[in-house]
Amino acid sequence: MALIPRNPKDWSACFAQGNALTQVELRPRGASKNYTILRLGDFGSVILKPSGNQRDDAFLKPDKEWIAQLWGIAFHEDLGPLAELRWFLASAELPLEAHQAHNSMMASLGELEIVALHHHTYDFVDNISSPVTIQQLSVTEPSSPLCPPGTRYTRPQLQVFRYPRANGDMAHRLETGNLICKEDCLRAGLYYPDQDVLRYCEQCQTFYHIDCLEVSPNDRPTLLPPHPTRPDDLEVEPDDREGAKEYTFLDYCSWQRWLCYPLERGCGAQLHTTFERVVLAIRREDRARGCPAKPRVFLTQTLDTAVHEAYKYQVDTLVHRFQDATEGDMDYYLCPKDVTSI
Ligand SMILES: [Zn+2]
Ligand SMILES: [Zn+2]
Repeated sequence: MALIPRNPKDWSACFAQGNALTQVELRPRGASKNYTILRLGDFGSVILKPSGNQRDDAFLKPDKEWIAQLWGIAFHEDLGPLAELRWFLASAELPLEAHQAHNSMMASLGELEIVALHHHTYDFVDNISSPVTIQQLSVTEPSSPLCPPGTRYTRPQLQVFRYPRANGDMAHRLETGNLICKEDCLRAGLYYPDQDVLRYCEQCQTFYHIDCLEVSPNDRPTLLPPHPTRPDDLEVEPDDREGAKEYTFLDYCSWQRWLCYPLERGCGAQLHTTFERVVLAIRREDRARGCPAKPRVFLTQTLDTAVHEAYKYQVDTLVHRFQDATEGDMDYYLCPKDVTSI
């Protein structure tokens, strides 16, 4: 029987002795007999026990639900499956500090946002109680799926460092690796998920606050040029296209309308009802092959891969929601870098 590691150094050594894995079974608790598979990068809520492996501030709130990301998995011969945990803080848990940069970044955090803490520990996989869904919300590329309201999220580029002050208290420093928008941004390059509506420019691959942009006189966005081998819509009547290109004129009009929908990310409760992944897929398809044979089927399939798993059974509703959204009039804005309409 191996000794249970007592301190962070022992835990680290035991973890290093194990065989690295990319996924592990989470044993069911209570009456449930269903195993859950946890993969590297997944999030889980963690039960903390009073031992050397626990998070350093766990004693402050013993009943709290702690959230960690599964950063590493190793199978130790004597101890079984072990997890390297990367810890997170809820935005409300972060204290104000003397640093202005920290405080303004803190003010930007959303209510449902959690922030990576620069703090890793090791534990038994069995001490993870259940998987939780945390959405990654990138500010460098439109990649967010459609999520139900209330979905918690984290920005991969944001993390908080914690270090002891001279008097023994802990100080915090929130840092971001990525600013968005333009040089004279009204928000100093910060993104406030609960307040800001963003537009993405595909030319310069940047998100901008719509409040920082001038309205464009154009009535459609500037699209990237089509691939040279793409069939030309204008030279071929829709009904005469070769092969499977059998869309109707109405289908073709819908497709053109979808292409006019901007790459926009909403805010607050609408934050995750963003069609950014869908719009990107439609634009890519159009550049490569033009209007698909069955645009509605294409939209359904695309939405199916661009939704949060909690929305998996609502794809038809979301298809309607997207079509409704593309019916309305939209404003477009001038990208400050390349003066395209976004
Ligand atoms: Zn801005
Ligand atoms: Zn641009």
